[in-house]
Amino acid sequence: MRLSRYFLPILKEIPKEAEIVSHRLMLRAGMIRQQSAGIYSWLPLGKRVLDRVNAIVREEQNRAGAIEIMMPTIQSADLWMESGRYDDYGKEMLRIEDRQKRAMLYGPTNEEMVTDIFRSYVRSYKSLPLNLYHIQLKFRDEIRPRFGTMRSREFMMKDAYSFDIDKAAAVHSYNKMFVAYLRTFARLGLKAIPMRADTGPIGGDLSHEFIILASTGESEVFCHRDFMDFEIPGDDTDFDDVAGLQSTVDRWTSLYAATSEMHDADAFAAVPEHSKVSARGIEVGHIFYFGTKYSAPMKATVTGPDGKDHPVHMGSYGIGPTRLVPAIVEASHDEGGIIWPAGVAPFDAVIINMKAGDQACDAACEQVYAAMTAAGLDVLLDDTDERAGGKFATADLIGVPLQVIVGPRGIAAGEVEIKTRSTGERETLPLDAAINRLT
Ligand code: ATP
Ligand code: MG
Ligand code: MG
Ligand code: MG
Repeated sequence: MRLSRYFLPILKEIPKEAEIVSHRLMLRAGMIRQQSAGIYSWLPLGKRVLDRVNAIVREEQNRAGAIEIMMPTIQSADLWMESGRYDDYGKEMLRIEDRQKRAMLYGPTNEEMVTDIFRSYVRSYKSLPLNLYHIQLKFRDEIRPRFGTMRSREFMMKDAYSFDIDKAAAVHSYNKMFVAYLRTFARLGLKAIPMRADTGPIGGDLSHEFIILASTGESEVFCHRDFMDFEIPGDDTDFDDVAGLQSTVDRWTSLYAATSEMHDADAFAAVPEHSKVSARGIEVGHIFYFGTKYSAPMKATVTGPDGKDHPVHMGSYGIGPTRLVPAIVEASHDEGGIIWPAGVAPFDAVIINMKAGDQACDAACEQVYAAMTAAGLDVLLDDTDERAGGKFATADLIGVPLQVIVGPRGIAAGEVEIKTRSTGERETLPLDAAINRLT
């Protein structure tokens, strides 16, 4: 991508409504634009990062055996009347009337709809287990949307829903998502700790929130420090190994970790003083087992091995990609701007032409650009006529992992510079050696 033909609306002024660093940086880097309170457009740079986050989320859902579908954003109120949640959900639900005067709503979550899909097709326990997920916009009329896309009204959610014949099978489905979440957050460069959580309006009795420690987090959390160094399950994890998954989950729930709603001061007091972490956190994921809460009233039953009808045992599993992007920025930035972990970076490298229009600089930039692109890398070439200082600032701000700096003095000596954004390390190399290194 040539920056001269791209759309990267960098903001020079720090917008004053942005209270936290991720919100400021995402606005400055031209990633998002607020369209009305808590409703955002994703601009090209932001869209690239969001797509990469979603790709990782999707890969780990698929690896754990979940199957992707796509449900609509607009739902009929009828289903919510069946489950009894239409009245309970309150003002967070955006209620809409269509031209036929039918009660509709913009989905804040999809338990009812997916239960309806399930009951329409699945008849026998032999079709279980089943886990269906989608990555789709949600709307919740948050009383206080803030912090950019961290708490917005329209936001993206990956929501998965599992169906099993009984509680034991449902717990295995829960454990699959638990492990998939550990892997997902680790691949995003985040240390997320599963914490015992309240089930809230979703209902049920087994639930964990995945929390990232951050001073700007909205939740108050308490946990054992050792979680920070726990080993993440590998990509060779066998998701069908019931006992193996259970032991991974047991280990990850063996130490104290709870949000303020579930906090037990006496239990926390037993944690050794130097291992106590009492901090703020960002909820990036939340998983629930809620049994037959929806399947019973909505009559989602299957025939069991005993020939009788049983309401299915369900769980739901949410991750917020549009919250994860700012959460990653909160966890990974410096005074100069964002530092993207390689897995989610919008580009692999940016080539900075310090003197666009200079024949030797232009030629070297084109050569590096062509070689890296041919090697399958995603490269941004800053071929604009801005001054070098501004280009360096932009490259640091947008946080691409590698910067290839091409200037007239270096090129006269046949050399270019490679800067690693995360460490600030710089290395000067002959052009050919640099191309070798980069491809
Ligand atoms: P919160 O406590 O922050 O209001 P929640 O508990 O209401 O979140 P869940 O119903 O558990 O959210 O939804 C699953 C995930 O969706 C959350 O863990 C979070 O990552 C994301 N999410 C929820 N609400 C928002 C929001 N307003 N903006 C962005 N992401 C959100
Ligand atoms: Mg909420
Ligand atoms: Mg919550
Ligand atoms: Mg939650």
